[in-house]
Amino acid sequence: MSGEAVGERRWDALVIGGGIAGLTAAWDLVRAGLRPLLIEARGYTGGLVAAGRIGGARMDLGAEGFVVRGQAATSMLADLGLRTAAPHGRPRLFLPPLAPGAGAGSSQWGLHRFPDHAYLGIPADPLAADVVAIIGEEAARRAAQDADLPGTAGTGPEDPGDLASFVTARMGTGVLERLVRPIVAGIHSADPADLAADVVMPGLRRATAELGSLSAAVAAVLERRRARQDGAGGRSVDAAVEGGLFRLTDALRETIEAGGGSVRTRTGAQWLRPGDGQDCAGGEAPAAWRVGIAPTRRGPTPSDEPVPDGSQEVVATDHVVVACSAGAALRLLRGIPGLPASATDLTVPVGAPIARFTLVARAPELSGEPVGSGLLVAPTGVAGPAELAGPAAAASAGPGASGLVSDGMVPGGRSARPVACPVRAKALSHLSAKWPWVGAELRALHGPDVHALRLSYGRPGQPRPQVDLQVALGDVAALTGVRIEPETVIDHMLVRWDGTLPPVTPAYRERTRHLEEQLAPVTGLEVTGAWVAGTGIAAVVEHARAAAGRLAGSHGR
Ligand SMILES: Cc1cc2nc3c(=O)[nH]c(=O)nc-3n(C[C@H](O)[C@H](O)[C@H](O)COP(=O)(O)OP(=O)(O)OC[C@H]3O[C@@H](n4cnc5c(N)ncnc54)[C@H](O)[C@@H]3O)c2cc1C
Repeated sequence: MSGEAVGERRWDALVIGGGIAGLTAAWDLVRAGLRPLLIEARGYTGGLVAAGRIGGARMDLGAEGFVVRGQAATSMLADLGLRTAAPHGRPRLFLPPLAPGAGAGSSQWGLHRFPDHAYLGIPADPLAADVVAIIGEEAARRAAQDADLPGTAGTGPEDPGDLASFVTARMGTGVLERLVRPIVAGIHSADPADLAADVVMPGLRRATAELGSLSAAVAAVLERRRARQDGAGGRSVDAAVEGGLFRLTDALRETIEAGGGSVRTRTGAQWLRPGDGQDCAGGEAPAAWRVGIAPTRRGPTPSDEPVPDGSQEVVATDHVVVACSAGAALRLLRGIPGLPASATDLTVPVGAPIARFTLVARAPELSGEPVGSGLLVAPTGVAGPAELAGPAAAASAGPGASGLVSDGMVPGGRSARPVACPVRAKALSHLSAKWPWVGAELRALHGPDVHALRLSYGRPGQPRPQVDLQVALGDVAALTGVRIEPETVIDHMLVRWDGTLPPVTPAYRERTRHLEEQLAPVTGLEVTGAWVAGTGIAAVVEHARAAAGRLAGSHGR
């Protein structure tokens, strides 16, 4: 099949997948003087960076911001003439009450401010008042013992590589359960026990070993972030693109096309083979790669992969970037002769069934921004310390944590009944407050007091959440204290992102590393995207730019 020149056409490069990874790679290839063809199986470019109109205002429906890490993303934004913006307002945590005697005032779930000096919830000073208010005095004392542990505790090669074990080994379950788990679950849609610490926080384990404690490592990260922030004119390190992240993917596509590249949506790669040494159609020199591409139509549901629909054509090229989703990428790579089966024999972990319900409503009480930019709800089961007294606490301590001080959060024998979570949502974002341009557009369209709220649902391992307006409004009332009547709702939209954020477990990380090593000697081929780079715009852009740089470097050799 691969040898047939059915409608064969030669391109300088082929980029498979039009998410942020593929667009970034194609953009860099254009800058290097190549004219790539980018194909995207769905009907739009951007992938998990997607936009839609709700209440008439265009908003991000998927990713909306990124953590500034290195220069890869920020320099790209600057070159594209886009401005970065920081989220307005600070997020909160919605947590169960602490056990009696642990320093708690209330017996109800309640809102807490994020601690001032923490990184993904890990405090630089476990005894700071805002940390103690969240985790209680005993847990704070246990967390402070991190400074007395040797730097090797929890950081050795024999220690488990997941974030939960690492944090527990150093600071105990109080920090894990009431800070790290709710924050990481909200940001990564995954449990810290399922995430490789070195992927979520590159360098943190090594810095802990070197500096002697996790709190010192976090303090160093925060210091570097502060310096970077100062260097960026005081802008926040949590950045977005002014007007919406979708402006970035829109601008990338425009620049690719303006630079001589071509973008085709509803077109998917079906197979990938090395060139067979035969001259290409029209007598052109043999190409290194041949790729079968075909039109696509929607799969059975919007979350399913698009399916081929129409006659195939062949792209001949010397440069291929595989930047599509994991399943499709692995199918393509399995067609490369000589690649050991062990390289592509990897199972992508199952991601949470994410559902996001956005509503636009007239709600004057929200003008006071009662929950800042939004809040994260602690996972159910994190409810109270009583739950930590059982086997879960022992299991989360991890095998490598032996010989460490015992956790101070659950004194023996105490039993408090966990207080059930009053909401089904796992997060709420006050979008019109967090992103001022959303608020301004809605006010211009509908007048004052109109707000946009987004509720997120779907935790790992749980069934697909069933959400409607009634459920969402109930959760808004419980979380913000503001009751919105259905008749004041101007518009609403449910968007599902089932399984699109698979957790990068330590084992999975090892497998993708192995794959990358096996692919490194293969010329004219690069693989990129979140499934190999690690989740998040910053990681993906950096990885995609490095991949495009290698291909462009090999061009003309
Ligand atoms: C709800 C949600 C919110 C998020 N929020 C944030 C955030 O705020 N900040 C952050 O940093 N990260 C966030 N992320 C993560 C971030 O969006 C992703 O890590 C990143 O966008 C992944 O980009 P990608 O290009 O690797 O993959 P994708 O965006 O998945 O792109 C891959 C593309 O390949 C296409 N494709 C598949 N098969 C084929 C084929 N055979 N041929 C051609 N094309 C194909 C797919 O249709 C898809 O468009 C979020 C993710 C989700 C789901």
